[in-house]
Amino acid sequence: MKKIKIIAITTLLSLSGALSFVSQNLLAQPSKTVRVLYIIPSDAERADRASLVTKAVEHNQKKWADYGATFVAESIAVINSDKTSNWFLTNNDGFHGQNKQWYWLGNAWNTAKSWYSDAENFDSNHKYIIFLEVDHASANSGAAAAANFGAAVMPKGIIDSIEKGNYSAVGSIGHELGHTFGIPHEDCDNQSNPKGLMCNGGNYPNVKLTAFHYKHLFSDKNEDFFYEKPINSFTLKENSVLKGNITRTIQNTGLEECAKLCLIDDNCGSIVHFDSTCEFKGGQLENVWNISGYTSAVIKKPASESFIIGEDKVLTGVIWKTTQGLNFQQCASSCLANSDCNSFVHFNTTCEFKYGDLESAWDIQGYTSAVKR
Ligand SMILES: [Zn+2]
Repeated sequence: MKKIKIIAITTLLSLSGALSFVSQNLLAQPSKTVRVLYIIPSDAERADRASLVTKAVEHNQKKWADYGATFVAESIAVINSDKTSNWFLTNNDGFHGQNKQWYWLGNAWNTAKSWYSDAENFDSNHKYIIFLEVDHASANSGAAAAANFGAAVMPKGIIDSIEKGNYSAVGSIGHELGHTFGIPHEDCDNQSNPKGLMCNGGNYPNVKLTAFHYKHLFSDKNEDFFYEKPINSFTLKENSVLKGNITRTIQNTGLEECAKLCLIDDNCGSIVHFDSTCEFKGGQLENVWNISGYTSAVIKKPASESFIIGEDKVLTGVIWKTTQGLNFQQCASSCLANSDCNSFVHFNTTCEFKYGDLESAWDIQGYTSAVKR
């Protein structure tokens, strides 16, 4: 089983001078991880879908990374249980009392806890995504999947749908994972596409992370699950001041904290910071005054909004620039910052600038190609 840890940066990013516009913060390995389990009861119909669900997790991981929240998923743990499907549905899980309709969830979680000796309820160091090869329809819980105790439990019905290529089933993994980070449902009536991760309904892959989600993801207890810090979601320009109206001023604040406060505020898209003053402002980095000592920063557009993306595809053109040690979003940002770059190919932590179009691309697993919109 391929480990789906997507970035491991051990060397300094070698960004050329042309990319000085792009934030060059080193991304530190997160200390907290997402654990993925595939639980197979003794009488399961299927036991061969660990690879399928791994890909589905990876799909969500890329989507989150596109919005500046890259978590590390541990290698999937495949558990051949000696318990039957019926046991998962009917054994009192010790959590739900007479609410038998939820025993499948509690029993899946108890199985995960006995697999990982350091696991605990609402584990502060790990989140869990548990794929359970149990048809739970007869339990009548009314939920296709659910999260509790810091674990997202995805039963057989979801795995079946993923296998059929149903995107809303793939997206339900990220939605339930969102619950494990404490994110509630959101009001989606007035949202345009892409819609928020915590909307009900099958919008995936047209989903996004916003201030509503960042508040929870980058909270003190959760921020160590991610490679990025809030500042990494911004394009920085030193010695410059955005032209635009100040909408909020916060004193006694460093640049990092200023960026975080902006990221979790629905009405903030860019900031100016100097000394210990943080200003929320409108404006674009193309439109600044040069004033030394001031730093301007604008929230990056996610790659998916700037590029047409082809997964498992490789552009056929010539590579004219290769940079190692970049995740997909960083590769996209560096292409956006380079006016000669129209398209790129990304795999593992390699970023290649290439020409080409997606129509004539080769199909190769694990590679992602992107062409500017
Ligand atoms: Zn939900």
